[in-house]
Amino acid sequence: MTITFNAYKAFLDRLGAGVQLVAVSKTKPAADILALYNMGQRDFGENYVQELLEKQRELPGDIRWHFIGHLQTNKVKLVAPFVHLIHGVDSLRLLKEIDRQAILKGRVVNVLLQVHIGREETKFGLDGGELDTLMQVWRDGVARGEFAGVQVRGLMGMASNTADKAVVREEFRGLKLMLDRYFPAGGILSMGMSADYVTAIEEGSNMVRIGSLLFGMRG
Ligand SMILES: *Cc1c(COP(=O)(O)O)cnc(C)c1O
Repeated sequence: MTITFNAYKAFLDRLGAGVQLVAVSKTKPAADILALYNMGQRDFGENYVQELLEKQRELPGDIRWHFIGHLQTNKVKLVAPFVHLIHGVDSLRLLKEIDRQAILKGRVVNVLLQVHIGREETKFGLDGGELDTLMQVWRDGVARGEFAGVQVRGLMGMASNTADKAVVREEFRGLKLMLDRYFPAGGILSMGMSADYVTAIEEGSNMVRIGSLLFGMRG
């Protein structure tokens, strides 16, 4: 069930003007997205390519679609024509494929590099050393006139799934330090979900990805 208009407006007020809201609509029907769209929301996040494609086809053309899941290289071509921001880039191979497909479509696609900040074992997300290497390759490439189809705009991370707020805060703080280091002129910092967005904003997030608080629990 989608949030009421008043609760949506109150939520935006709580986020403040400097924090962008990405409404995470994975597994939710198009009607729920349209309800929030009609309240004024334009940024929506999806995790699965097929689901995103179906929703993109039937929903208004001015929605800014964020891809927040793990994007497989062979599916980049499907989202490249329209995607607004890809949050989860964690390899040079993926970055290069986004670049290639964006150039083919005559676009520049904005991306965030995903950093593994949480405690959970996962194969997704860069560690500090890998981030450093990828940022270097990206900058060197740009200096040589490469990467005309892709813009690395900032970082994304997911904190540990724990009730220990101190752990979550520490992880978010670390990601903010990385943002400041690699994007001294400012960048997008995508961190914070329904359970931890308050802490994320306190630690410097400027983009939160919120699902269940807006659309209710996923089944
Ligand atoms: C599902 C998801 C979210 C939203 O989670 P909620 O707890 O429902 O707010 C945010 N980010 C990513 C990467 C997700 O997969």
